[in-house]
Amino acid sequence: MNVSDQFEKRTARAELLAASAPAVAEPLVFAAKLFRLQGRLAAAISARHADAPFSGGAADLPRIADLLPPLLSFAAADGPPELAEAAETRASDDPTTAATRLRVYWEGGRDALEDYLSRAFLRPFAEVLARAGIAADRPRHEGHCPACGSAPIVSFRKELPDSNGAARYLVCGLCGTEWAFNRIRCPSCQEEDPTKLPSFQSDVHKNVRIEACETCRRYVKSLDLTLDARPLPEVDDLVSLAMDLWAIEEGWTRLEPGWAGI
Ligand SMILES: [Zn+2]
Ligand SMILES: [Zn+2]
Repeated sequence: MNVSDQFEKRTARAELLAASAPAVAEPLVFAAKLFRLQGRLAAAISARHADAPFSGGAADLPRIADLLPPLLSFAAADGPPELAEAAETRASDDPTTAATRLRVYWEGGRDALEDYLSRAFLRPFAEVLARAGIAADRPRHEGHCPACGSAPIVSFRKELPDSNGAARYLVCGLCGTEWAFNRIRCPSCQEEDPTKLPSFQSDVHKNVRIEACETCRRYVKSLDLTLDARPLPEVDDLVSLAMDLWAIEEGWTRLEPGWAGI
């Protein structure tokens, strides 16, 4: 399955969930359209990579910056008000400013909480790099993605063959890489004291947990795939948006926002 097909799979999953979860249909429909657009970007970026391979560094960004306008138009037209406004402002950037914003994000100067649009745009680029085995030249942090250094957008648990019990995985919000991670450890500050790592569940979304850390006050949402393996964690994440609203209300900060921007 090539990178564009992965985005098509995410689109189909978001559309399916939107039809069955009216309360969160709006963010899911938005995400479905975003994944479709990212799939087209991935195809264009893959073609350029085939012509002349990317290096994984910020020097690649001017070679893809011309692909940004359709994403900005989409976010301005279909995004929630705050995002739409940011996209409109950015649409009038001159090419140098547009490229600089992407470089600042790529070099770790801003994160997805501050710059959703750069992550949304660079996602297909980072995923094409990861798939091609090219290391992204970005700052690395312990507990973050081994391929590109970005924070995990979501976590999931799945049963491993030949083992008793489920393993915990983290999913990168920028390049889509999944990696195994210690079950009792905060991916933000590396806290390992179980008494400081509370988790919260709700009666409504029984397969979802908020995995929090009292030391850094951040959390990662975790999906249990041991009973149902169909969910795509970063897509199904949006179904339990109410749990993020609850956690934020309680004073926790999500380590890496999901595709609804929260
Ligand atoms: Zn990554
Ligand atoms: Zn922590």
